[in-house]
Amino acid sequence: GRSVHQIQSGQVIVDLQSVCKELVENSIDAGATSIEVRFKKNGLDAIEVQDNGAGIAPDDYETVALKHYTSKLATYDDLSSLQTFGFRGEAISSLCALSNFHITTARASDGPKGTKLDFAQSGRLAGTSVVAAKQGTTVVVEKLFHNLPVRRKELEKNIKREYNKVLQLLNAYACISVGVKFSVSNQVPKGKKTVAFSTNANPSTRDNISNVYGAKTIAVLIPLHLEFAMDPSNRPGATQSARNWSTQEDVGSRNVKILGHISRPVVGEGRQTPDRQMFFVNSRPCNLPQVAKAFNEVYKSFNVTQSPFVFADIKLDTNAYDVNVSPDKRTIMLHDQTALLENIKEALLALFEHHDQ
Ligand code: ADP
Ligand code: MG
Repeated sequence: GRSVHQIQSGQVIVDLQSVCKELVENSIDAGATSIEVRFKKNGLDAIEVQDNGAGIAPDDYETVALKHYTSKLATYDDLSSLQTFGFRGEAISSLCALSNFHITTARASDGPKGTKLDFAQSGRLAGTSVVAAKQGTTVVVEKLFHNLPVRRKELEKNIKREYNKVLQLLNAYACISVGVKFSVSNQVPKGKKTVAFSTNANPSTRDNISNVYGAKTIAVLIPLHLEFAMDPSNRPGATQSARNWSTQEDVGSRNVKILGHISRPVVGEGRQTPDRQMFFVNSRPCNLPQVAKAFNEVYKSFNVTQSPFVFADIKLDTNAYDVNVSPDKRTIMLHDQTALLENIKEALLALFEHHDQ
């Protein structure tokens, strides 16, 4: 029968995108400067993420895949000052329940040897073996959803679209991760391995974007730098959420910064498409449809028909948003979003007008 663990796991890991999001974030959390993502049959057969990060300590082998185990949270207070992506210890445990799963890991002190960790579906360590391995961790997810037939069918049916969605997410991680070499490849049966994209360990996001999207894209970009103060409590007609925002901590006005790159609105030039828009909150890739809409509206007001290329990292106080709205952490709630959007539009307009002169 279906276990509660399996059902809860299915809420954390909902598709190919959530698998890659969790694994890549773990690699970044582990301090990796090289991350390789390998798909087999677009991810249907396997998704492998290999990094050169710190590796897993032998003391953690037993617990690493148990539900709510995390090495990243010492006390609950840490939640507010959180720097790492993960903190709930649900991803690895969920993947055990939903796929054929194993990890190979090696620490600097292990020499040329590493350890392969096999797990039961419950996350219990089922066995270890010594293997050749370089420093870092390789996580292998085979036959995702093999034990949830309906969801497996869905995945197979939509695999092309799922694969393209996951590439977009990986583009975003590759572009935001300065100093991290990314490479993403896909192996289809009988076909040869294709490299989807790769970046060098670049010193800037601009170089990352150049690696992913090409020199032509870079040529039309201007620096995106918006900065404004938000004082939600004093604003006339402030919403309840705005007041909540300011009650958490008594700070006067909050400085919001948006940093990145954007294509200038040039009439008659239309190369960019909306899938070249990446939004981040404090360097974490996020789906922000309302923010995207605000950018596109300003762009349209210049009588251009195409959508801009946007790479925008919104720097916010950690208590100005909430990422824990849904188990898959994909939905992010921005407090006082309405005022934020108005400020964005105003500042963006000013930026373009400045660049027009
Ligand atoms: P969380 O990231 O919330 O801690 P996960 O289930 O994603 O929870 O991971 C559980 C633990 O496994 C992490 O806290 C970390 O100790 C270890 N881990 C997972 N992936 C890696 C990796 N790529 N490198 C090193 N340690 C890892
Ligand atoms: Mg994690």
